[in-house]
Amino acid sequence: LSEIKNKQITVLGLGVTGLSIVRFLVSQGLTPTVVDSRINPPGIDWLKQNTPTLTTRFGDLDSADLCASDMIIISPGLSLTIPAIAKAINAGVEVIGDVELFARINTKPVVAVTGSNGKSTVVTLAQQVLLAAGYKAALGGNIGTAVLDLLQSDLSNNDVDVYVLELSSFQLDTTTSLQPISATVLNVSEDHLDRYASYQAYIDSKLSIYNNAALVITNADDEATHSKAKSQLSFGANQGGYSLGEYQQQTYFMQANKAFLPVTSLAVVGKHNYLNALAVMALLSPFNISKAQYSTAFSQFNGLAHRCQFVAERAGVKYFNDSKATNVGATIAAIDSLATNGQQLIVIAGGDAKGADLNALTPYLQQHVKALICFGKDAKDLMALTNKSHLTNNMSEAVTLAKQLSEPGNIVLLAPACASIDMYNNYMQRGDDFIQCVMAEQP
Ligand code: ADP
Repeated sequence: LSEIKNKQITVLGLGVTGLSIVRFLVSQGLTPTVVDSRINPPGIDWLKQNTPTLTTRFGDLDSADLCASDMIIISPGLSLTIPAIAKAINAGVEVIGDVELFARINTKPVVAVTGSNGKSTVVTLAQQVLLAAGYKAALGGNIGTAVLDLLQSDLSNNDVDVYVLELSSFQLDTTTSLQPISATVLNVSEDHLDRYASYQAYIDSKLSIYNNAALVITNADDEATHSKAKSQLSFGANQGGYSLGEYQQQTYFMQANKAFLPVTSLAVVGKHNYLNALAVMALLSPFNISKAQYSTAFSQFNGLAHRCQFVAERAGVKYFNDSKATNVGATIAAIDSLATNGQQLIVIAGGDAKGADLNALTPYLQQHVKALICFGKDAKDLMALTNKSHLTNNMSEAVTLAKQLSEPGNIVLLAPACASIDMYNNYMQRGDDFIQCVMAEQP
């Protein structure tokens, strides 16, 4: 921290992350300048109340004179290619993210997780396993608490044995010093192509999590996650050190081909969740955790809201909310895990596809989906994937139509394959709207 004590620091972006950066710097006696391109950024009221003396520049970034700062600590929502930011980088200003600052200060072990899908599930389960094993495990990053809010103000961090961090590709783009005890890229599928020059650039961003990791965990089934690191383990459905296998007529989590626990020990279902559990086991291999402790944590893990969340059963039709399926890979996983007994699904999808190629959905739509109901910005692109598609204007119409098209035994699944920002504040609000519409339908 002494390194930055005498620097002119700019905090760029005043949302949840930006506020955590401001809070942290102020707690350490620093007085950053706070900049945001919005005239009224979300954190403005907090700032006015708690740190009214800080210099702020809200509005046009070009007039914020970013080149005059020694260091910019940037929020992940802002792209480094925005002209005013690119200009500052070219002028030699150091631009880092909150995770980078955390990494420079933190001395405790970090378990780091990225990937296109499953991050939140994996880090939450990992934390629960660690807690069950008696470790003081703190969870944050791209989920829940921003990393700098995880640090104690005296920086001793005595109340933490290990940090479990979910990291997005945007966070990784501004992080170079993190040295995880174990790190994984869970899987890669097209996402965020509106912010990366190419799909490969997005993959490379994810892979950077391995750079200083003591142990690299790859997905054996997904070549894009592979690494040449010396110390590595892998997980996969049928291959890898941690895999799924048959033992005494049951499917088991296997470690080095030895049956460890039956998959029924995990309270959530679906093959993607079994893979998530295998990833957790590999990630936590540096820790001392017994089978009984795994079993306890697995059996108590009920999954997260908005991820294949059961909503209600109406007239023999089950409704599931997977609003967090904001890309094609997640929608495929949701369809795959719900269509297990040949059930026919009615899928509600749409929103902002973020430039992704949607064609990978087609075989799943053909096999398991009897109707695809679309709305939102990129509805037309989804409609083109199948002749079983229907266009509606909003969630309420979509749910009403889903009800009309469904028969007992069917499943109605909200799994949009798109971001929600064209019509909602976030995926939670979209999922809540779906739940409300389902509940409002007469049984
Ligand atoms: P993330 O934090 O990466 O967005 P989540 O755990 O919140 O991941 O899950 C997001 C969505 O991705 C879920 O709605 C689910 O359908 C899907 N999903 C979860 N785990 C996996 C996985 N291992 N592979 C593919 N899709 C997954």
